[in-house]
Amino acid sequence: MGVRDRIPRMKARAFDLAEDRARQEWARAVVGRWNAGLASDELPLWSPSLRAALLAGMPFLEVLCPACVTIGAVDLRRVDRHPEAAVASLVFGLTCSRCGPSAPMPRLVGLHALPASRRA
Ligand SMILES: [Zn+2]
Repeated sequence: MGVRDRIPRMKARAFDLAEDRARQEWARAVVGRWNAGLASDELPLWSPSLRAALLAGMPFLEVLCPACVTIGAVDLRRVDRHPEAAVASLVFGLTCSRCGPSAPMPRLVGLHALPASRRA
């Protein structure tokens, strides 16, 4: 500690911050491409990881029940899965509670920073 290592520490911190920012922008681009794919007619053949969604600051996965047309949101920060697990892999556990045990497979709508109820 002292004056001698202050400037190298400041440089290292600035480098770390720039690296974090670049990683976050990359994650946002990945999530943006996935969201655009879900919105199009051709569903994407891939899915971002939970870590990418959290890094992008978009922890809310919205799903649509095709039977009752209800949209729900799952906060990925509360999901206990490996961070490298694909977001789309969660769909199997997200059946609609309104439609009961015979609910159809929900459709993924996208990842968002806030749930739809708080975005409006
Ligand atoms: Zn339903």
